[in-house]
Amino acid sequence: MAGPSLRKGVSVLVTDRRIAWVRPTSDEPALPPDVRIIDAGGSTIVPGMVDAHSHLTLPGGSHWIDRGADPPEELLEVAEHNGDLLGRAGVRWARDVGSPLAVDPRDGRRRALALRVRERWRLDSARPRVRVAGTWISHSGVIPGGLLIEADDGPALLKAASTQLEDGADFLKLYLDGPKKEEAPWSTEDVRAVVDLAHGRGAKVTAHSGFLAGARVGIDAGVDSLEHGFELDSDAVAKMARQGTFLVSTLAIFRSWATFAQTTTLPRFVSDEGKERTARRRERAVESVQLAHRAGVRIATGTDFGGGSLRANHLAWEVEALVEAGLKPAEALASATIRGGELLGEAQAGRIIEGGPADFFLVHGDPLSDASALWRVWKVAWLP
Ligand SMILES: [Zn+2]
Repeated sequence: MAGPSLRKGVSVLVTDRRIAWVRPTSDEPALPPDVRIIDAGGSTIVPGMVDAHSHLTLPGGSHWIDRGADPPEELLEVAEHNGDLLGRAGVRWARDVGSPLAVDPRDGRRRALALRVRERWRLDSARPRVRVAGTWISHSGVIPGGLLIEADDGPALLKAASTQLEDGADFLKLYLDGPKKEEAPWSTEDVRAVVDLAHGRGAKVTAHSGFLAGARVGIDAGVDSLEHGFELDSDAVAKMARQGTFLVSTLAIFRSWATFAQTTTLPRFVSDEGKERTARRRERAVESVQLAHRAGVRIATGTDFGGGSLRANHLAWEVEALVEAGLKPAEALASATIRGGELLGEAQAGRIIEGGPADFFLVHGDPLSDASALWRVWKVAWLP
């Protein structure tokens, strides 16, 4: 079921956590004798969503950056809370695009914390299914705190990438904003070497991109996806569409910052200057998504919870932001489901298919005409 309009009068049989069949209710075959019938009248069956930009170990909120320095044991607790929030919001898959380095008590080595979360959740069917990028790889002088890997030239960048893959990262996350926003932190050749290394080991490369200079380098170097893409132009999106580079939108960040103007006393959000800056960046980011959408770029989407200020149960907010940017509700929902699955290389993620996992949830209302229905979660099939 992946069409643009709602199918009414549908029944679904689930056996052993898999979808046995999807049929018109008027045409149900004989039901097994011990079947438990759930009357979902008036609700819509939605595929479990894919939060394609998340930070499992971080809580978000208006002090989201400070929270990254909290003790690792606390951040692991945060991840458990986030796991609950994700599930209850209908999010089945979380793509973790960066977690702090912390000493792993099992062997005393420093590695990305989300790798431990992935291991904890692997055998627990109620937990989100996850793919993990390891830690951020950034130029020095960009992100404070020392919780990530810094690399200032090509060889250091390649070594950092190799370390992350050896630690068990499913893919790599490069931070393509440099110390100066007009300059990318590395050359196209340096980034291409990382892409070749990762692809040679069956892994993908994604890149944080807040500014155009970094976006250009990432696209030219052949990264598989750009995160945020807050500053794209028509050349950039044309090349992304040609190459099949994904954009992972995170527009709700600006909605969240706008609420902080009301709910916090932080000058960054409360001051007139801060509000203007947020509004300006939001406008540019929306324009970038519109350009990408018109050019035919595949758009997956995420909250940036934890690494940004959203919380783990806010993916509906991002779907609403995409609709506001001009995507049809069905396209925006596809970004939060099917496209996310394509980005992960998981053919069944974000889909409801006979024989596939029973990864769906029920909401009150029709998200194909009204994205806000995604907030009204009634039941989640994979949770007790
Ligand atoms: Zn992020």
